[in-house]
Amino acid sequence: MIIVLKPGISKKHEAIILKEIRKRGYKPHVMRGVSRTVIGAIGDELTHQSLETLGVVFPEIVESVMPVQKRYKLVSREAHGQSSTVSVGKHSIGGKKFHVMAGPCSVESEKQLLQTAEAVKAAGATVLRGGAFKPRTSPYEFQGLGQKGLKLLAKARKETGLAVITELLSESHTEMVAEYADIIQIGARNAQNFQLLIAAARTGKPILLKRGLSMKIEEWLLAGEYVLSNANSNLMFCERGIRTFETYTRNTLDLATIPIIKQESHCPIVIDPSQGAGRADLVIAMCKGAVAMGADALLIEVHPNPAEAWSDGTQQVSLEIFSQLMKELQPFIVASGRE
Ligand code: PEP
Ligand code: MN
Repeated sequence: MIIVLKPGISKKHEAIILKEIRKRGYKPHVMRGVSRTVIGAIGDELTHQSLETLGVVFPEIVESVMPVQKRYKLVSREAHGQSSTVSVGKHSIGGKKFHVMAGPCSVESEKQLLQTAEAVKAAGATVLRGGAFKPRTSPYEFQGLGQKGLKLLAKARKETGLAVITELLSESHTEMVAEYADIIQIGARNAQNFQLLIAAARTGKPILLKRGLSMKIEEWLLAGEYVLSNANSNLMFCERGIRTFETYTRNTLDLATIPIIKQESHCPIVIDPSQGAGRADLVIAMCKGAVAMGADALLIEVHPNPAEAWSDGTQQVSLEIFSQLMKELQPFIVASGRE
């Protein structure tokens, strides 16, 4: 059930409703918008007293009570009509400003990371990406620098002021990754690792949830529900291509997810054109398409020397191409009503 409170309701009145929801056997999740507060109440309506009467019992506090028909509740647009923004330091993702997160697939060395961080910042990126724990298909390939990589990301943040996004691969690393990351990335291979999603959510850090390799949109939204139902409303969805029969590209980037996620959910949608096609030569075109279709942000792999990258060399763009990309993107950002 979704309980919409009247505009300008005090914390004291909100607490009365929260207490009542708990008393009736439901778990409340509070979402505070600019003008009003919405409470999602999760519980089994077959075995608990209905919440439908809340509006009648507390007419001065409750504006409306609505059932959510969808299997995903808290991530749904029904639950929260207004688009949510995710705060990352001084930045707000999902708002008027368009954001670009950029950096190498893997953190390889201090020199590689700092050089990339400075270049992407100069070109206009606000978040630095870099994998310290890498989910590699083969166990014989570079697995990431681990904590040393996280420390380098923290150093790059200190020197450039960029926020940091990095992947959490295993539940056992949750505390360590949360200590260094401003945004926790959940990778495609772990998109339905529900225990990992719960652990990540409970850190309270913003979460970027990639779409799984063969994941249906409903499954992806339900995976997001694991984050919001564990007291973390700072969720972004990230489309990174799905596996199809096509072999010209590594994955098939599904840009239709942009309007679909916008219709179905209030959470921001981010596009990763790098894993999306596995081809550096397609990155600029895919970024333009994503911006034009209303994406809230991009996640792009950038490397000072892609040919020598320790992972995903074919899809990383050089520093020069990234700077050109940012310039070419500008008119698309303006045309889509962003800054
Ligand atoms: C990555 O961002 O480098 C990555 C491994 O992404 P994905 O989980 O989408 O494959
Ligand atoms: Mn990669």
